[in-house]
Amino acid sequence: MERYEVGNERVELRRAWTPGEVREAVREVVSAAGLPSDRALRVVIKPNLNNDLHALTGNSTDLRVICALIEALLDDGRRDLVVADGPNVGVERRGIDVFRRLRVANLVNRYPVRIVDLNRDEGVYVDLPDGRLRVARTWMDAQVRVSVPTLKTHAEMGLSCAMKNHVGTVVAQDKRVVHRDLARNIAALWAVAPPHLVLVDALVGMQGNGPGDGEPVRLGALFSGRSPPAVDRVAAAAVGFDAARVPYLARFPAVEEPRVSRLGVFEPAPARSRLAVASERRELRWLKRLVRPLVALPVVAEAAYRANIVQDVYTLEDGGVTGVRRTSDDCGGCTACADVCPTGLPVAQIGRTVDPAACLSCLACWWACPTGAVALDGGPLGFLERHATRYKASVERATRTST
Ligand code: SF4
Ligand code: SF4
Repeated sequence: MERYEVGNERVELRRAWTPGEVREAVREVVSAAGLPSDRALRVVIKPNLNNDLHALTGNSTDLRVICALIEALLDDGRRDLVVADGPNVGVERRGIDVFRRLRVANLVNRYPVRIVDLNRDEGVYVDLPDGRLRVARTWMDAQVRVSVPTLKTHAEMGLSCAMKNHVGTVVAQDKRVVHRDLARNIAALWAVAPPHLVLVDALVGMQGNGPGDGEPVRLGALFSGRSPPAVDRVAAAAVGFDAARVPYLARFPAVEEPRVSRLGVFEPAPARSRLAVASERRELRWLKRLVRPLVALPVVAEAAYRANIVQDVYTLEDGGVTGVRRTSDDCGGCTACADVCPTGLPVAQIGRTVDPAACLSCLACWWACPTGAVALDGGPLGFLERHATRYKASVERATRTST
């Protein structure tokens, strides 16, 4: 474990990759976090389930981390746990159930833990520097808040991590208010209901055209701390970003740059297209609202994606993939599948059990397997088809290559 001081705040970095390593690291983090001692208090865990891209692409929080965190908190005697997030506006507008697509629901259902979709939650009005919006009551009223962001590049903000994770606490389309002045509002939003613990899932990060269309990078790391700006500063430094390149971080008073062990150097997001930048202009908001139904048409969305105007193209069909099956014993035994399995199944059992207590059908093993020895069961692919075409090869590469 490495420890860094940022002003008066402490940030820790632990290396982990396999389910056992992640479990051990998260257990240490929870026991050292100094959470409020009353075990009956409600604990709300807020991962980053921004959209329906699998965690191994670097986009969403890894089930290895959520699973380890739930178990560490239950073992700590916590009795009232909630996993909550409000996915992005495009997902929300189309009614896509990200909790189901990412199998977070399958994971959470194994425990005495509830899920709350913050987009459907009651909101509490809050004034930000550039507008009024509703923050979900479940997050506001939580007695213990645990934020579990991912570490990825962001086309507008340079990087997305702990402070940016709070955008998911804003109810449904009110998130658009945050985008009126993204840097200023992100810098203010986390402090509305600050976390008691930040645990950054940097097992797989995303570089390049993040947060929705970048490339996965295996970092094998977990950052933890209490202060989102301090955690962000250390996480940014670990991937070669100084605070000046992250507009919401640059708003905080300068502190001595932490000398952090490099996990790698993230390739930044490419420059946004002129049309994408123009679409954010205040005076053109009316036009954006007008063309929104048009951009929702699959053919228009695809054209906008190809022109680098949007990053996300959503598929409404969930598909019928039910899980994974083994196609071959002769697989070479690389262990990539077992290394990413949230429930810690050994290679010999992967794809050979349909017991929901053992296998979450999360498909992580299929994403990671480079030989086809793990195949998808059921069909059609639905939304997975587009994701697999875009990401299967990069996930295979990323999961077997550590930085
Ligand atoms: S065996 Fe595969 S699908 Fe099942 S929980 Fe493990 S990684 Fe997920
Ligand atoms: S990832 Fe595929 S090739 Fe590697 S051990 Fe698992 S099943 Fe075999």
